[in-house]
Amino acid sequence: MDERLRRLLGASGPELTCDECFAELDRYVELEVSGTDADAAVPGMRAHLEGCPACGEEHESLRALVAGDDA
Ligand SMILES: [Zn+2]
Repeated sequence: MDERLRRLLGASGPELTCDECFAELDRYVELEVSGTDADAAVPGMRAHLEGCPACGEEHESLRALVAGDDA
């Protein structure tokens, strides 16, 4: 059922699931905002964010929040 859902969502390919993406998103955004190579630290994340509109949106708003928080 999980796999079927994933296929329906079109998120096949990247090895990250939405759950894993969500679990790493905080860390990923912090690295990104601090100028560290977030893609190297969390492999597969970029591909998932590009392939998954829900996580992509979550990423955008979290990044805006983190970036705005510091500035
Ligand atoms: Zn996702």
